[in-house]
Amino acid sequence: MDILSSVCGLSADPVEPRRTGSLKAFHSAGRGFWSHIPDADWNSWQWQLRNRITTLKGLRTLMPTLTPEEEAGVQLANTKLAMAITPYFFNLIDPADERCPIRIQVIPRLEETLTAPWELTDPCGEDEHSPVPGLVHRYPDRVLFLVTDRCAAYCRYCTRSRLVSNATGYDFHPEFDRQIDYIARTPAIRDVLLSGGDPFLLSDEKLECLLSRLRAIPHVEFLRIGTRIPLFLPQRITPELCAMLRQFHPLFISVHSNHPRELTTEARDALGRLADAGIPLGNQSVLLRGVNDDEAVMKDHLQKLMMCRVRPYYVYQCDLISGSSHLRSSVRRGLEIMQSLRGHTTGYAVPQFVIDAPGGGGKVPINPDYVLSHNNDRVVFRNFEGKVFEYPENADGAPTAISEPSSAHPELA
Ligand SMILES: *Cc1c(COP(=O)(O)O)cnc(C)c1O
Repeated sequence: MDILSSVCGLSADPVEPRRTGSLKAFHSAGRGFWSHIPDADWNSWQWQLRNRITTLKGLRTLMPTLTPEEEAGVQLANTKLAMAITPYFFNLIDPADERCPIRIQVIPRLEETLTAPWELTDPCGEDEHSPVPGLVHRYPDRVLFLVTDRCAAYCRYCTRSRLVSNATGYDFHPEFDRQIDYIARTPAIRDVLLSGGDPFLLSDEKLECLLSRLRAIPHVEFLRIGTRIPLFLPQRITPELCAMLRQFHPLFISVHSNHPRELTTEARDALGRLADAGIPLGNQSVLLRGVNDDEAVMKDHLQKLMMCRVRPYYVYQCDLISGSSHLRSSVRRGLEIMQSLRGHTTGYAVPQFVIDAPGGGGKVPINPDYVLSHNNDRVVFRNFEGKVFEYPENADGAPTAISEPSSAHPELA
């Protein structure tokens, strides 16, 4: 019995199944194999990056329970998307669970070498919408600015695996001059989204320089950064970084978390520092098989994000990136999960489910159907409980004549 129950004499009424209820509790990632490391090193983001797990030998030493599929996957990974896992994030993996939702996001598997005929290396057609290298201009008023080809750790379903982790053949331009010049001479661009790779891998100085140059362009109204670093490397979110960022408002940040276990006390504190710097935080998840394609896990994750002051923004249907079929869930599953959320929990906690259209159509919202019929005099729709309602209106949207409501709609009388 918890304290509230014993004080108020209420009987415990577990609404959530215990399996997922416990996922909402905040825990530290702990030290794991690195308990002998001085705090100053462990808490240093540079130390975390230097000590990332990047080789089969290193991973085997830490995790004797690697499966043959993982061993083969790791061996092949560095020919495609590299493996890299920060010690901090590694500690979230359950070595006893082959299907651990953290493990399958970052440890390569042999299945990555299987490519379905409909899978692509540039599934969202970004390269075709690139007016200068490192810039994607798909929508009229905003651009995606790829600032680096590196991340703190590599997600195995990465939609940009063609260019990140030093992928061969990608012509990366770290000087930013052409990208900034394009933005400066394109007045329609009022929103610049920095992504990559992870922009927070740049030094504070370099990032400040980039943000200042963008802020100096009069038509750039709004800046945002897409990053997974608060989850992979919360040590990077230093007070100095936050103090630097707050000069550039309005600045929003979209983080990328997929499972409640990623929301540790360390991640919560890092997100809190960003929020305290006045930065509105959103989250983008990818619907992943065995990670979050489950109603209860998804709801726990979204509610836990809210406890970290993060508003869920998008849930993406997994892009058709080659070698990702083992991690992909279905659109049908996504719709079932969305239906389980709307009305059943806080509206702020309900993200928009989207498919980034294969080939380059942009993000398209995919919603459960609530409208059952819509004709010239009414909309018939259902609510989250399945109850049916009607909303009378004229075809042109004009109000129904109030003097004779029963003759206009005798069946409603
Ligand atoms: C996702 C994305 C954006 C931003 O889209 P929003 O819906 O405004 O968040 C901009 N450009 C590209 C190419 C994108 O993929």
